[in-house]
Amino acid sequence: MSQPTILIIEDNDYNLQIAVELLERAGYRTLEAKDVDTGILFARQSHPDLILMDMYLPIKDGYEATRILKADPQTRDIPVVAFTALAMPEDCRRAQSAGCIGVISKPIVVDTFAQTVESYLNHPLPVQAPQQQALGPQEIENSDFQRQFSRLSHDLQGPLRKIRQFCDFIQSSGEADISPENRQFVAGIERATRQMQGSLESFLETTKPRSPSG
Ligand code: MN
Repeated sequence: MSQPTILIIEDNDYNLQIAVELLERAGYRTLEAKDVDTGILFARQSHPDLILMDMYLPIKDGYEATRILKADPQTRDIPVVAFTALAMPEDCRRAQSAGCIGVISKPIVVDTFAQTVESYLNHPLPVQAPQQQALGPQEIENSDFQRQFSRLSHDLQGPLRKIRQFCDFIQSSGEADISPENRQFVAGIERATRQMQGSLESFLETTKPRSPSG
């Protein structure tokens, strides 16, 4: 029997890399796409067994992508699971109405990720949408705090990108006068910066203002 193929549509390098590693280790074949158009192309060409769909993507988002896949007779039977840092009841409902069968929340839980994906392959479950609750005063304060923090996260991305570019530059230069120790040091900074970018991106997704239309 051939291995099931999972298509991962995700623009965050860090999340994509972890998801691919964990799924391949669990014996799945994976396909990767960083934007919706590439993802839809792969879905049509390869007809994967499952699609993990990041909901916040550049140009077209995951909701739109899922609607496109569900409207196309060629791809409508492929189960789509929302892969998102937004897993509040409202988000689950939106994902469900776009055509997702479930939600896997970010950050990725390394120990259970592959197993959760497998459960959607075998037994597609409907999205659980718990009861909607009105915001209390505490939550309203928090959302104000979140907005500030979201702006900070956004502002930090520029400098982090600069640091990574500099690391890339050092690493790719063939200068003989850079010692192996310093090269390793730069690789460590690059790794740490990549992790920070991943965390910020996940955080930005959780604090992204939602459209009132749902
Ligand atoms: Mn994203």
